[in-house]
Amino acid sequence: MKIKVLGAYGSEGPGQRPTAFLVDDRVLVDAGTVGGAVSVPEQVQIQHALISHAHLDHTAGLAFLTDTLAMVAPDRRVTACSITPVVESLRTHAFNDTLWPNFTNIPSAAQSVLGFCELPEEGESRVGELWVTSVLVEHTVPITGFVFSGDTGPTKRIWQIAREMRGLKALIVETAFPNRLSMLAKASGHLTPEMLRQEIDKMPPDLPIWIYHIKPQLYQETAEELAKIDPSRIHILEQGKTYTI
Ligand SMILES: [Zn+2]
Ligand SMILES: [Zn+2]
Repeated sequence: MKIKVLGAYGSEGPGQRPTAFLVDDRVLVDAGTVGGAVSVPEQVQIQHALISHAHLDHTAGLAFLTDTLAMVAPDRRVTACSITPVVESLRTHAFNDTLWPNFTNIPSAAQSVLGFCELPEEGESRVGELWVTSVLVEHTVPITGFVFSGDTGPTKRIWQIAREMRGLKALIVETAFPNRLSMLAKASGHLTPEMLRQEIDKMPPDLPIWIYHIKPQLYQETAEELAKIDPSRIHILEQGKTYTI
C-alpha cells in the first residue's frame, strides 16, 4: 500500500498544503488539497475520497477536483465517503449550488462527477480496494493497514478498536498546536505534543506514529516539542513523500 502525502498541514502556507493523502493512486484520505499536489491526469484516476469531517482544511480540494473532472473527464466520478452527518454537511453546506456547484447533477444527475456514499459507524465497508471502519471521536476514519485519526482532541474509542486490529503498520495522528496553545487546542478539539504524549499510552504499542496537521504558522515550535517525545516512534510526515506499508 502506497500513501502519498498531498498535504501535511492543518492550514495553508506558501508551499504548505492542508490535509490530504492519496492511497494507491485511487483513494483520497481527506481532501484538503488535491489539484495543488497532483497533475490533472493523476486527479482523473482518483475514484474515492474518504472524508473524516467537513472542515475546509479537509475538503477544499474535493471542490476543485470535481471542477476538474467536470471540465476534462465528465465521464468519471469521485465518490466521497463518510459517516452520514458528514455527507449531509457536504451536501447541505458545500455542494449546494450556493457555496459551490452541486456536482452530483453535473454533467447530469444520471452521470455526475460527484457521488456520495455513507459509511456505517464501527462497521466495515469496502471503499475501492480498501476496507474501512469509521470510528467516532470528534471525527476519525481508520483503515485496515493503518489507522487515520482525523482532527481530534484526547480520545479513547479509536484506540480501543485499533488495539484489536491485526496487521496495523502505522498510526496517522494529528498534532495541531505547540504546548503553549493548549487552551486553544482544547477549545477547538486538537492535540498539542504534550497531549499526544498522553494519548500514546492508549494507542496500540510499538507502531510508528506519523504526525500530520501541524499549523504551518507554528511549525518549528511544534516540531521541536514533538522531537522531544519519542523519536524512535514519532515521525512528522513529509508533504510530497510517498510512504509504503
Ligand atoms: Zn483540520
Ligand atoms: Zn477539523
